Amino acid sequence: ILKKASVTQLPPSSPGRSDSYLSESRFDQCSISAKSLKGLKDAGYEKMTMVQEATLPVILKGKDVLAKAKTGSGKTVAFLLPAIEAIVKSPPIAHDQKHSPILVLVLCPTRELASQVASEASKLLKYHPSIGAQVVIGGIKIAQEQKQMRKNSFQILVATPGRLIDHLQNSAGFATRLKGVQVLVLDEADRLLDMGFRKDIEKIISAVPIQHQTLLFSATIPDEVHKICDVALKRDHEYINTVQEG
Ligand code: ADP
Ligand code: MG
Repeated sequence: ILKKASVTQLPPSSPGRSDSYLSESRFDQCSISAKSLKGLKDAGYEKMTMVQEATLPVILKGKDVLAKAKTGSGKTVAFLLPAIEAIVKSPPIAHDQKHSPILVLVLCPTRELASQVASEASKLLKYHPSIGAQVVIGGIKIAQEQKQMRKNSFQILVATPGRLIDHLQNSAGFATRLKGVQVLVLDEADRLLDMGFRKDIEKIISAVPIQHQTLLFSATIPDEVHKICDVALKRDHEYINTVQEG
C-alpha cells in the first residue's frame, strides 16, 4: 500500500519524520475543497499532523494564529492549505485588471526554505489550475524575477524579506499587487528575526492592507518573536502550542 510517500523518503531515524507527529484526524473530515483533498491524497497526506489538526479549524475561521511547533511537524501544509482555501472562496479577479493582486504572501528566512514551501504549494495546487504560486528569493538578477512575475499568473507569493523589499521599491506595479494580500504568513518566525529581518518585516506589514489574516509559525518563541507578535497579530489571535514541554 502506497501511503505517505513523502515520509518514506526519510531515513527511519531522521528526527524530521512527520509520522511521529500524525494525529487521528483525516483531512477529509474537514471542510476542505475537493480539489485540495485530491492534491493532498496524491501527496500521500491522509491524516493530519498534530499541528495541522490544531491550527486548521482556527485558521479556516479567519483568526490570526501564533503556532509553536517543532521542525518536521508539518507546518507548511498547516498554513498553505487554509491559505489556498481562502483563495478558493475569494471572489474571482477581473480579467482586465493590469496587475492581478497577490492574495497570500509567505515570508521565509532563506531561499531554501522558500523553495521548499513553493514545492509543497505545487503539490496542493495540482488540481487548482487557476491558482498559481511564485517565489522571489534573490540569487538571480531582479530583472529575471520581474520577467517571471509578468509571465506567471499567481496569487501566492513566497519570498525572502530582503528580495521582497527590493521588488517593493523597484518593480512596477508590485506595491499595488501587495494591496490584495488577505493572508500573511511568517514562517519560521524565530529564524526570520535571528537573521535580522525585523525592520523588513515591519515594512512589509505596512505595505499590505490593514485588514488581513496573519499566521505566525515558529519552533521557539523568544522575546523577539513576542515583540513581532505585538506588531503583526490582532488582539484576539489564538496561540496554539503543540510542543510538550518537560
Ligand atoms: P516543518 O515546517 O514543521 O518543519 P514540513 O512542513 O517541512 O515541517 O513537513 C515535514 C515533512 O512532513 C515533509 O516531508 C512533509 O512532506 C511531511 N508531511 C507534512 N504533512 C504531512 C501529513 N499530513 N502526512 C504525512 N506527511 C506529512
Ligand atoms: Mg517549515
